[in-house]
Amino acid sequence: MSPNVSADVTPSTDRHLAADIAILGGGPAGCSAASWLAQLGLRVAVVEREARLCASLQALQFPQDWVLGHAGQDLAALGQQYARQLQAQAGVQILLERNLQHADWQAGEGWRLQLGDGSCLAARALILATGLRPLRPEPFFPPGRPHLRVLDAMDLTARRETLPPGRILLLGGGDNAAENALFLQARGHQVTLWSRSDWRAQQMLVDRIQAQPSIVQRPRCPMPSALLADAEGVTVRSREHGEERFDHVAALLGYEAEPSAWLLVGDALQRAGITAPSHPFRDEPRFAPLGLFVAGDASGRQHPCVQTALGDGVVAAKAAEAFLRPLKEGQPTLALRRNNRQIIHLQGLRFGANLGVLDFEREGPQPIQVDAEVNLGAQTIVSRDADIGHVLDYRRVRQIIIDECTAEHTDLLEALLGKLCTRLMKLAGVVGVRIKVTKLEIFEDCQVAISAECGQW
Ligand SMILES: Cc1cc2nc3c(=O)[nH]c(=O)nc-3n(C[C@H](O)[C@H](O)[C@H](O)COP(=O)(O)OP(=O)(O)OC[C@H]3O[C@@H](n4cnc5c(N)ncnc54)[C@H](O)[C@@H]3O)c2cc1C
Repeated sequence: MSPNVSADVTPSTDRHLAADIAILGGGPAGCSAASWLAQLGLRVAVVEREARLCASLQALQFPQDWVLGHAGQDLAALGQQYARQLQAQAGVQILLERNLQHADWQAGEGWRLQLGDGSCLAARALILATGLRPLRPEPFFPPGRPHLRVLDAMDLTARRETLPPGRILLLGGGDNAAENALFLQARGHQVTLWSRSDWRAQQMLVDRIQAQPSIVQRPRCPMPSALLADAEGVTVRSREHGEERFDHVAALLGYEAEPSAWLLVGDALQRAGITAPSHPFRDEPRFAPLGLFVAGDASGRQHPCVQTALGDGVVAAKAAEAFLRPLKEGQPTLALRRNNRQIIHLQGLRFGANLGVLDFEREGPQPIQVDAEVNLGAQTIVSRDADIGHVLDYRRVRQIIIDECTAEHTDLLEALLGKLCTRLMKLAGVVGVRIKVTKLEIFEDCQVAISAECGQW
């Protein structure tokens, strides 16, 4: 074992804790990452704001067969199993009922996390595994006015077994809304299912809903304008259906990354002079050289579930181990294995394009110049010749720009910029685009250009 890592967990003092790696969030992803890292001989601290690990699974009592090898078992029981295994594992410090209050990052030092109980945790690497939270649009959930009759996804899951049968409105058209509609209808509720778009749920669920005439179905219907809850029920107002009365309303409108931790971590990076994303951290390799990793639902999985969270925990653990692993003699440091950002620049690309709203601009092509920067994010440093097929070929970028500008007449320069940004951002590996289009001969005394930037910079 290297001098950098040790398996014993020894808090320096009660208030000053130390670990090789801190994991924020003790759900399936955090537990899975912690278990792997501890088995790899690293000191791990898991910070969980709830009083138990895998608290998010506690209310998920219904048996489900998605998790391979555990058919028929409910997620609450699985969560207890994950928690028990981690609690029995050496090298893992579990800090329950502690919220992140403040984070700092310093080059060469790593992370210092101030926790809600006044303690401070120092770690060289950090995994964000803080999961998602249900969307609670303000018009339906006015701040400071919680109401027992207007429920979000978590409330409904916790209460659906015990809600007395009555009139219930479900807002949403995804799997969660469809599955709940079937569940509640089977328990004697009069269910109305209302979605602003077409049904987005799995076809199997849509077929089952459509075979249930007693479920009132309102696809492609603008959301209600107001929900007015009182002690007896909820009045729902909408242009399409006027004023209606329900016993309960559940807004099942999707999820967003739990913001408490990533906002503080983003602030820490900004203070250290590193551009942090204004959106939740995804699994972005450019943060790996800082010892920052994301796992589980927080990483923006297309299908967030327990299995992907467990797998994600392993991937994050291996990436964190690679960051922490001591270097062998002669091996380049991580900073020399990956750059911070790689950009393709195309400057002064000139050709004729059919562009503009003026009469003479409609007569034929006019000369324009395009300057483009295509951000590929952090890349492995290429130290010897490699296959062109493994990199983004700049000839392709040039041709796409010419094709987009010449395929058809575009009235507005702004629209042309939009087309170019959209097309270039779709290229594999591209994380940001800066583009400037100049009309070279529009005026005798000056050129006119508009530039745009999108994605990450
Ligand atoms: C209603 C519902 C039904 C579901 N049904 C299924 C199903 O049938 N099958 C399935 O596989 N999946 C299901 N899921 C999804 C599954 O629960 C998640 O995909 C899984 O729990 C994700 O694990 P995670 O560790 O990424 O996040 P989470 O389980 O959400 O864990 C994140 C943890 O981070 C903690 N945390 C957040 N912020 C902080 C902070 N600032 N400081 C400290 N701790 C923090 C939270 O308290 C939480 O314990 C369901 C989810 C919901 C909501």
